[in-house]
Amino acid sequence: MKRLFSGNEAVARGAFEAGVQVAAAYPGTPSTEILENIAQYPQIYAEWSVNEKVAFEVAYGAAVAGKRALAAMKHVGVNVASDALMTAAYAGVNAGMVLVSADDPGMHSSQNEQDNRYFARFAQIPMLEPSSSAEAKAFAKLAFEISEAFDTPIMLRMTTRICHGRGVVELEEPQPVRTRPYVKDPQKYVMMPANARVRRTVLLERMRRLAEYSETTPLNRVEEGDAEIGIITAGVSYTYAREVFPNASFLKLGMTNPLPMRKIAEFISRHRQVYVIEELEPFMEEQIKAAGLNVRGTDLQSTAGELSPDVLRRRFFGTVPKKAAGNDLPARPPVMCAGCPHRAVFSVLRKHRAVVSSDIGCYTLGALQPLNAIDSVLCMGASIGMAQGYARVLEPDRPVVAVLGDSTFIHAGIPALVNAVYNRVKMTVVILDNRITAMTGHQENPASGKTLQGEQVPVFDFEAVARAVGAAYVRTVDPIETEALERAIGEAIACDGVSVIIASRPCALVDRHQYTGVMMIDKDTCSECRLCLRIGCPAMSLRDGSVVINPDLCFGCSLCSQICPKESIHRTRVNVEG
Ligand code: SF4
Ligand code: SF4
Repeated sequence: MKRLFSGNEAVARGAFEAGVQVAAAYPGTPSTEILENIAQYPQIYAEWSVNEKVAFEVAYGAAVAGKRALAAMKHVGVNVASDALMTAAYAGVNAGMVLVSADDPGMHSSQNEQDNRYFARFAQIPMLEPSSSAEAKAFAKLAFEISEAFDTPIMLRMTTRICHGRGVVELEEPQPVRTRPYVKDPQKYVMMPANARVRRTVLLERMRRLAEYSETTPLNRVEEGDAEIGIITAGVSYTYAREVFPNASFLKLGMTNPLPMRKIAEFISRHRQVYVIEELEPFMEEQIKAAGLNVRGTDLQSTAGELSPDVLRRRFFGTVPKKAAGNDLPARPPVMCAGCPHRAVFSVLRKHRAVVSSDIGCYTLGALQPLNAIDSVLCMGASIGMAQGYARVLEPDRPVVAVLGDSTFIHAGIPALVNAVYNRVKMTVVILDNRITAMTGHQENPASGKTLQGEQVPVFDFEAVARAVGAAYVRTVDPIETEALERAIGEAIACDGVSVIIASRPCALVDRHQYTGVMMIDKDTCSECRLCLRIGCPAMSLRDGSVVINPDLCFGCSLCSQICPKESIHRTRVNVEG
């Protein structure tokens, strides 16, 4: 049977067909749907782990214990998991273990554009790069075979266009689930120095054998064409290059670590000019040139940004493709949703002239105008750590506040909070608890009280954790109650130590019926001061010089009415359909 699958759905299907029994991930675009789809197969245990390192370790533990396992994450998630990955490569696996890295060239929803092919090389593990949904499924299955044959974790590297693009996939029967016996083997799995030194040699020898495999595997294939131009490429770049150079010869690489250098040399020898076409870094080009082979690549292509056929045409031929008329969409700057409970927190923090270090989440949009309330954003969990640095350096009366979401606090905030308390910092942490991992599309987390596969579990108690680690001041407030919120933040900032505010209210998009009615502005009393516009709600705008509320967008959260000095904003009983 054939189905139209996204790359992420195809990876999930490949895992199912390969007999995977355990899958773990932390949500992150563009990887999120892999686990959401794996969770649909009741035969597989699938979990949202609290962060990527834990996800990797859960999957790795299952593989060592004897069942095939998969961990999925976006590219920056591999940074978090890398501590475990680097040493897991030494120890090897038992049953197959696949790490899916979903990279985001072009930074559609990421804070950087790192090329995780270097992680495979750094960790010395094999890597497969599919260029379509069909390959995503086939490579996901094959990855488990390679992992077991070579006793190594393996990386399946996807990119946004492969993850989210759709293609035809042929479904096959799942393989019978196999369990490899677990045998206690401390020399292999206890990576203390004496054992690790031995395993380092095993690792190097394994890579030598993998290099031989890379030379002969049909994953790396030549597609004969014109002898004038040869192209070495992989992943989605192959698809783009095929479109732009229809007559060229191709060395299409499905396994890109280790590279098949003999095959590459032979291919180069048969073509007048060979180009390496790859997205982001010159990962293949550098290795090919280091082997003394003559190719062109980065001299013609930028290493920044996402590729496309048009980008390739521009870089290779200098032609700027004509745009079809009328296809331009109006620009839509990112903005926090109408009714978002986080908006009130930023509005109050701005009043306090606080230095605000934020974390990664939808609340990061508080950095944009008109809220303009955030000073820095780095990576998951960095808000609290960076705030400690601010607090050590800035004048003592300057409020320093870290803001981070419920999922992010659990992901990487807890150790930083412990550190702040331990090191006696004066600072405030505001946990923006909307009971869901919102930015990636509403995945459950310990604060939601539900697992990925729908099991009810105790709801994570932020207050108890903050008190347990020794925070000097802890309050839970409803951020829509702006007076109470202002009072709590004022007290927290005045506190001599680490204070924690839990601003708790469900995401407006998850619980659309938490408010009744919508707001309207009384034109007779409104003074047109436009103060209400400063909260940046997309339901509010200027029409003919006057502030208006669009009832189709308004959630009725009441934040604007609490801000209006003229009490001109009132609730109506028009209910929003949701
Ligand atoms: S804050 Fe109140 S008075 Fe000022 S523009 Fe908005 S609705 Fe009118
Ligand atoms: S009540 Fe005001 S702040 Fe809330 S969604 Fe409606 S217009 Fe926006």
